[in-house]
Amino acid sequence: MPEYEAVIGLETHIQLNTQSKIFCACRADSWGAEPNTNICPVCTGLPGVLPTLNRQAVEKAILLASAMHAESIQPLSFFARKNYFYPDLPKGYQISQYDEPLARGGFFDLPLASGESRRVAIHKLHLEEDAGKTVHASGHRLIDFNRCGVPLVEMVTGPNLRSADEAASYLIRLRQLLRWLGVSEADMERGHLRCDGNVSIRRPGEIGLNPKTEIKNVNSIDALREAIAAEINRQIREVDAGRPIRPWTLEWDETTATLRKMRSKETEADYRYFREPDLLPIRVDDAWKEQVLAGLPELPLPRRQRFVEQYGLPAYDAEILTEERSLSDYFEAAVAAYGGEPKAVSNWMMNDVLRLLRDRGLSAGELRLRPADLAEIIRMVDRREINSPTGKSLLDKVEHTGMKPAELVAREGLGQVADSGALQALAKDVLDESPDQVASYRVGKATLIGWFVGQVMRKSGGTADPNLARQVLEKLLQETGE
Ligand SMILES: [Zn+2]
Repeated sequence: MPEYEAVIGLETHIQLNTQSKIFCACRADSWGAEPNTNICPVCTGLPGVLPTLNRQAVEKAILLASAMHAESIQPLSFFARKNYFYPDLPKGYQISQYDEPLARGGFFDLPLASGESRRVAIHKLHLEEDAGKTVHASGHRLIDFNRCGVPLVEMVTGPNLRSADEAASYLIRLRQLLRWLGVSEADMERGHLRCDGNVSIRRPGEIGLNPKTEIKNVNSIDALREAIAAEINRQIREVDAGRPIRPWTLEWDETTATLRKMRSKETEADYRYFREPDLLPIRVDDAWKEQVLAGLPELPLPRRQRFVEQYGLPAYDAEILTEERSLSDYFEAAVAAYGGEPKAVSNWMMNDVLRLLRDRGLSAGELRLRPADLAEIIRMVDRREINSPTGKSLLDKVEHTGMKPAELVAREGLGQVADSGALQALAKDVLDESPDQVASYRVGKATLIGWFVGQVMRKSGGTADPNLARQVLEKLLQETGE
């Protein structure tokens, strides 16, 4: 039994992948743009301008809240001003939500390695605008306002996670879900998904919470895992040495893999929140909510479960095939077109289609090789019209040419040589050309049969039925040996 258990909560900022910013018409995503080229009077807070709420941002937040099992999408919610002074916040306040957010309550059931799941409460989910970016360069502080006004959802979990691995796994599942819903690109390196971790420890069985530290500046899932693990160990060392845990804010330094104290954590700063007077409340009536939720797809974890139950897939296959939504769609479409054993489709996808996707850097929805083409190729192999290596090479050929599998087989003469007369002739040639090998085979080197099959395959341009070739060769070798 461990002496301590970790108590971890995560605070995430999710950049919504809308076209425009949350309160103006500037592009939402400025990745790679020159600093301060994607700004306007609204997002830089010039006097006299008025924000206009982006409907899409609200719809994406509603989808996310529903996927997180929010107890309610509030029919009426409000924006508030969070006042603080910081160079990259030109207005001197951030428009956020405070006491009346868009959604309340919610949870996420995180699957654990043990097969059980951990219920992670969602304590907070609201819309807000992003601030700009401060860049330190050669002794100067440079401000880039491009990110000002980018739509964010801030989502905070309860202190329900129990290890660095669970925290990392939550973030992996969240990233999967965000992409699945199509609400965020969720690319951590580009800051689309940012995460701070709150960490404390306690004796198992203890109910209360001990002082926690907050870890900032982790920009990958691996970094989050490492930083939290390091902090848990540090806290255990401190407590074992009789020292108290101070509520510090820590920064993860990725190059040295160490935590550094940024500042003593302020008590809840006085942000002097008040209602944003320039924006109307968000009214989500039933009709709008229904329209948005009509676009809520079956979520990845239930779909994974259904793949196991409905198609009899091993959990491993179901996990891989539901990593990404278009891959799941592809699989189901191919199974329907194939009509045979779903596991056969899964094998082809896990071994060959995934390789094709990796090689070409595509998602399943972008392939020219359609699910019906894959199904057709598998059926041709089943019917022994082509052999399995030909089938695999056809995947690339269909993808490359955009032609139908049957057309390619006809055009390139890939049909399997399964006619024993034709095979007989090929086999005879091989044996006639290889007297030494035939002699060795006859004196007992039976493994040479594989080599003979290989020669027949080569002569047939790879199209021979290898099993039939083997039978024909064995028969011939017996006959000539008598
Ligand atoms: Zn703007």
